[in-house]
Amino acid sequence: MVIIGSGLGGLLCGNILSREGFSVCILEKQSRYGGNLQTFRRGGHTFETGVHYTGSLGPGQTLHRYWKYFGLMEALQLQQLDSDGFDIIGFPGGEFPLAQGFDNFIRQLLPFFPGGFDSLTKYTTRIREVVNAFPLYNLELPDGHKEHHYTGQSAVEFLNGFSRIMYSSGGIPLSSVLAGNNYLFGGDPVTPLHMTALISHSFISGAFRFIGGSTRIADLLVQKIQQAGGTIHTRQHVTAISRSNDIFTLSTASGEIFMADRVISGIHPAATLSMMPTEIIRPAYERRITGLKNTVSSFILYLSLKPGLFPYPNYNYYFHETHDPWNETGFRGEQWPGMFLLTTGCTQPGQEFAETATILTYMQYDETEPWHHTSSGDRGAAYLDFRQQKAERLLQLVFRRFTGLKNAISGMEISTPLTYRDYTGDPEGSLYGIQKNFHEPMLTSVMPRTKVPGFYFTGQNTNLHGLPGVTIGAVATCGEITGLEYLLKKIKNA
Ligand SMILES: Cc1cc2nc3c(=O)[nH]c(=O)nc-3n(C[C@H](O)[C@H](O)[C@H](O)COP(=O)(O)OP(=O)(O)OC[C@H]3O[C@@H](n4cnc5c(N)ncnc54)[C@H](O)[C@@H]3O)c2cc1C
Repeated sequence: MVIIGSGLGGLLCGNILSREGFSVCILEKQSRYGGNLQTFRRGGHTFETGVHYTGSLGPGQTLHRYWKYFGLMEALQLQQLDSDGFDIIGFPGGEFPLAQGFDNFIRQLLPFFPGGFDSLTKYTTRIREVVNAFPLYNLELPDGHKEHHYTGQSAVEFLNGFSRIMYSSGGIPLSSVLAGNNYLFGGDPVTPLHMTALISHSFISGAFRFIGGSTRIADLLVQKIQQAGGTIHTRQHVTAISRSNDIFTLSTASGEIFMADRVISGIHPAATLSMMPTEIIRPAYERRITGLKNTVSSFILYLSLKPGLFPYPNYNYYFHETHDPWNETGFRGEQWPGMFLLTTGCTQPGQEFAETATILTYMQYDETEPWHHTSSGDRGAAYLDFRQQKAERLLQLVFRRFTGLKNAISGMEISTPLTYRDYTGDPEGSLYGIQKNFHEPMLTSVMPRTKVPGFYFTGQNTNLHGLPGVTIGAVATCGEITGLEYLLKKIKNA
């Protein structure tokens, strides 16, 4: 069996299937495995690339229950974010904590929205109700497709139902606060209700950073795959997939050939299908998948900080210049950036000062269109100039809130949509892959099983992005091969 891509999805599938006795070979285009789990070092500091925090890792919570089976829980060092505010949502005129624990979530927001008890109760009840309609989030077998009830509903409409409850001194509606961390799912108004509910539920249940970085997850998974006899080949960029007599042949850019009776693709479905001839894949299916819109891309600053100057915030900070967090993904020119997320790495428990800060905001891929034929390290002076100007503009906004940060910076790396396009292979450097759309829930979903016998998808485009979403997606993919009931039983008993 060949797995394309060594992101979390590919590695989890490799882990499950090698332990189940399958002969697993993972092909990864980069020189290192891990995809978005990779960290990088600059100025003596470690930076996350695609995992800043995760939800539901507390004992008994969804991700914890899954990751116990993968042997991750005993080996990872976690930093739980502040119970009374794992995310702080800021607007000009007010800052609001999103707290862990459902009752505490209500309790912490209530002083800002004194008339909002019923609304906040309705909000937490509703997101729990949505999660209960997704049995795999409770390690149960899917039944009756109750989830379809929510995939066709709008997240914006749900949250706008709370717009009459106002923070009186700033005129800020509760709906904007509840949508304040919608960067977590790409901030598009077509976002389905289930996405916001599953993701918010996960963080409210328990929000954590990985001490030392999330790359440890990839290291542990790779170790276990190798112990079970699986192999991982880096620098193997799959460029073509063909099939004859029930055997797949995968060619890589280095000229090597790999053959397998089963293939799991852990990369973007459009990129996968572009490598397959029309004899294998129906043109209508390819047209549907390649025609789907992707989530917006990002512009990110990775700041190295001087020691002892910037107090370590044990929370993430989201800032919005206006009260409409659903209207920011398309900002450009004078309007850009309009929002930012500031997050910090954690190097040890009880950390007093931050060693790094990462600032994330949206950027449309077409802003980098003039350089889309270039590759990393060779994009030219005009690109470097563009990047620098954008960085300065973003920092101006950040310094308005974090005045002390300016003097604490000792170094800066910058990434643009092109960086992520070339790093993960996601078209247009998209943050989270295919944009799920509540108007077309079925059309924007990719099933793990395809019409090609022996060919499967996994990764963030199948179930949902983010660590819990990709984990559950990997179990669903492997369940197609081993039997889902059998696999869930093993996971529950781990
Ligand atoms: C900036 C950013 C911040 C994020 N922050 C968070 C967060 O705080 N918390 C959270 O839970 N989630 C976060 N996410 C989302 C999360 O990182 C992803 O949903 C998840 O890691 C995706 O895993 P994956 O296995 O689907 O794909 P990826 O991690 O993208 O892995 C795909 C792998 O396939 C390889 N590949 C691609 N094409 C080929 C090819 N042709 N041949 C061989 N190999 C190939 C790539 O090199 C890569 O290693 C963030 C994402 C981004 C981009």
